[in-house]
Amino acid sequence: MPDTVTKRLIHTMSDQVVTRFAPSPTGFLHIGGARTALFNWLYARGRGGKFLLRIEDTDRERSTPEATAAILQGMAWLGLDHDGEVISQFEGAARHAEVAHLLLAEGKAYKCFSTQEEIAAFREQARAEGKSTLFRSPWRDADPATHPDAPYAIRIKAPQDGETVIRDQVQGDVTIRNDQLDDMILLRSDGTPVYMLAVVVDDHDMGVTHVIRGDDHLNNAARQMMIYEAMGWDVPVWAHIPLIHGPDGKKLSKRHGALGAQEYQAMGYPASGMRNYLARLGWSHGDDEFFTDEQAKEWFDLGGIGKSPARFDLKKLENLCGQHIATSDDAALRQGIESYLAAADLVPLTQTQSGDLERAMYCLKDRARTFPELLEKAHFVLTIRPIDPDEKAAKALTSVPDGILEELTPQLQNASWTRSELEEALNSFADAKGLKFGKLAGPLRAVLAGRAVTPSVFDMMLVLGRDETLARLSDAAN
Ligand code: GLU
Repeated sequence: MPDTVTKRLIHTMSDQVVTRFAPSPTGFLHIGGARTALFNWLYARGRGGKFLLRIEDTDRERSTPEATAAILQGMAWLGLDHDGEVISQFEGAARHAEVAHLLLAEGKAYKCFSTQEEIAAFREQARAEGKSTLFRSPWRDADPATHPDAPYAIRIKAPQDGETVIRDQVQGDVTIRNDQLDDMILLRSDGTPVYMLAVVVDDHDMGVTHVIRGDDHLNNAARQMMIYEAMGWDVPVWAHIPLIHGPDGKKLSKRHGALGAQEYQAMGYPASGMRNYLARLGWSHGDDEFFTDEQAKEWFDLGGIGKSPARFDLKKLENLCGQHIATSDDAALRQGIESYLAAADLVPLTQTQSGDLERAMYCLKDRARTFPELLEKAHFVLTIRPIDPDEKAAKALTSVPDGILEELTPQLQNASWTRSELEEALNSFADAKGLKFGKLAGPLRAVLAGRAVTPSVFDMMLVLGRDETLARLSDAAN
């Protein structure tokens, strides 16, 4: 056995759960892929198991290193950490070929010398005669003495009668008549292994115990099963999950909006909210909508995966994201915002802004569904004097009698800077002027933030401190 082959044998016999995510690196990490990765990650992490990552890069034409990088980045954003090295399927080609040869040696596979032209002609004739176009190779039972000295493919000897049953944890038992299966090619005549063989060998060698993947792979499972049986390998637990649909019930596509996980990062959805949302997309735990990662790991099981396609619902995503923002700790939110700014290619925070933002977080995180919404509320603490009010705020400034803000200044100079004192000072000032406090709040928001939507006036004052508050009042008076 060549070195590269043995090195890939990382399979250890144990009861440990091993799952994997096996994306083909032909594009970004899309929502469906992210959900598949998340389900595998939750299943393993909730059971002290391993979550492996295999890049299915056997299709050399369509696989790109940029796509692999994008998938890794998307997973990193979502916090879906994998165990061990990233495995390249392509690098395992020698091992895959070795298995094809093993099956050949055992008589479970055979050399097929049929050419492309012969196969095409067979199909054409079958079609003309209204017969099954499944290719039946004349070489299956041929005497090796009759083998020509010519290139050959290795084909598996598919069972010809009876049935194959896929015991799927989501779809139930799926039965396929064996006469529907052809003698699939394992190794092409140029010596390259087919994808279907690579998947089975890799899953076996990686010790994968549970395969959770899109139900577009259900048909493959029947063919993959032939290889497991021929090799005498344990079949993993299979769970084929329904694809994601758009709100209109049609298969999710670009037409429904963003498809890439990272686009959601760049739109400012927090990863925790996205994880929560993706977990609920096709899986449920009673009526629970909002939950933490810890709860998801504890609760996630295959029994909770639904049989019908889940619909992508942006409102629900935003709602969950709002709840995650509201309950996240301040430092984590600040970090989330900093990576959002980088992902969206926006100006990063200065060190001062970053500290100020975290200090203000307590009064920003309620009712913000996305980071941009939170940053809008944070404008007062991120901006510097003189404050340039936007249109709405400028209008609020003209709604109080002239000079009233100057009169407020001495009241604040002497107040002690606590919420109750500030409330007391502002309320009695408003009373004395015969105004409702609400009348003062708009202009004060304009003075302190230059915006109409802000945290409460008191919170802004507390976060800004006395000096900055008075300086902003005095700027406005001038
Ligand atoms: N590479 C396949 C895909 O991206 C997944 C194959 C599998 O999970 O078995 O759809």
